[in-house]
Amino acid sequence: MHLYLHIPFCRQACHYCDFHFSTNTNNKSAIVDAIAKEIVLRKAYLPGHKLETIYFGGGTPSLLDEKELNLLLETIHAQFEVASDAEITLEANPDDLSKEKLQQFSRAGINRLSIGIQSFHEPHLIFLNRVHLAHEGEKCVKMAQGAGITNISIDLIYAIPAPDHSILESDILKAFTLDVSHISAYCLTIEPQTAFGSWLKQKKIKPVDEEFAARQFEILTRSLAVNGYEQYEISNFARNHKYSRHNSSYWQQRPYLGVGPSAHSYNGESREYNVSNNAKYLSSISQQIIPSTYEKLSVADRTNEYLLTGLRTKWGVKKHELDRLSNGNFLSQSYSELENLIKVGWVRLENETIMLTETGKLFADKVASDLFIEDN
Ligand code: SF4
Repeated sequence: MHLYLHIPFCRQACHYCDFHFSTNTNNKSAIVDAIAKEIVLRKAYLPGHKLETIYFGGGTPSLLDEKELNLLLETIHAQFEVASDAEITLEANPDDLSKEKLQQFSRAGINRLSIGIQSFHEPHLIFLNRVHLAHEGEKCVKMAQGAGITNISIDLIYAIPAPDHSILESDILKAFTLDVSHISAYCLTIEPQTAFGSWLKQKKIKPVDEEFAARQFEILTRSLAVNGYEQYEISNFARNHKYSRHNSSYWQQRPYLGVGPSAHSYNGESREYNVSNNAKYLSSISQQIIPSTYEKLSVADRTNEYLLTGLRTKWGVKKHELDRLSNGNFLSQSYSELENLIKVGWVRLENETIMLTETGKLFADKVASDLFIEDN
């Protein structure tokens, strides 16, 4: 079983971000207390399972102080059995990381850091409204390695408007010098409920065209492959099989519990969505009520989610699993689409597994939606 904790605070709002967070940290301790209470309320969500991964996401979990982090981890250990080799990840922003903070994380049992670097190019960080400075990205990775945390992932963003690809190329070269085991690289997308979204509407910014983004994706995947990073999911690259075990569990449709405002949970049959509002979350938990909405997943939902996430991974989607999830409906509904996708060279079939080709990786969501089934 896998546990996700959503820490809904950030120092400032990045212009592209549509995750749930607040920049007002006045009630941070109260929210942490409430998340600890939710862990207790939720302990029976997936009975009888050992925690294999714990993931502090957000928001910005590196804003947690030692007392808050320890409270959450002590509560987790009191309520669940945690595997001795559990992967315990914390998302961190470079400006939060000091030697002392990293030692605190290490003492608390954090054994993997996911650091939001995004770019090493100062004007790009300013454009994205990141709070940290370019040199802090490099410095904090070296500090974390010095503090003994060797399982480090960094996030990079590509398809940021630029005259050519030289800034991305230099970001990639800089990333290689840091010798991290994992890199996540995300395409800058403009979501409606963000600063970029409203500037796009007002025609104040212009996103890069598809060809520019596709070329940047190609530069990234090629350079990472040459430098020993395996693309095990479209946006995720690992050296020496240091995959994110936590995120892989989502892509492989494994059950997980999510706690905190806006967190989701999944038990194989249904999903639950916590309210994306810190005040409502606090008030509900204070009355011992989990503020979540429930969605029973239909046969088509479960099949289509497997297609959407599984196709993005190097493991692809297994035909027998599609048959099981769809009650035998997958091939009867999607056989001709599958044949077409093989013909145009976007997917291939290997050992009864459907996988994206290199070209198909550029159209992963379209491929999945072409194969989607409908409920009878
Ligand atoms: S720090 Fe992360 S969660 Fe917070 S606004 Fe920026 S991208 Fe979003």
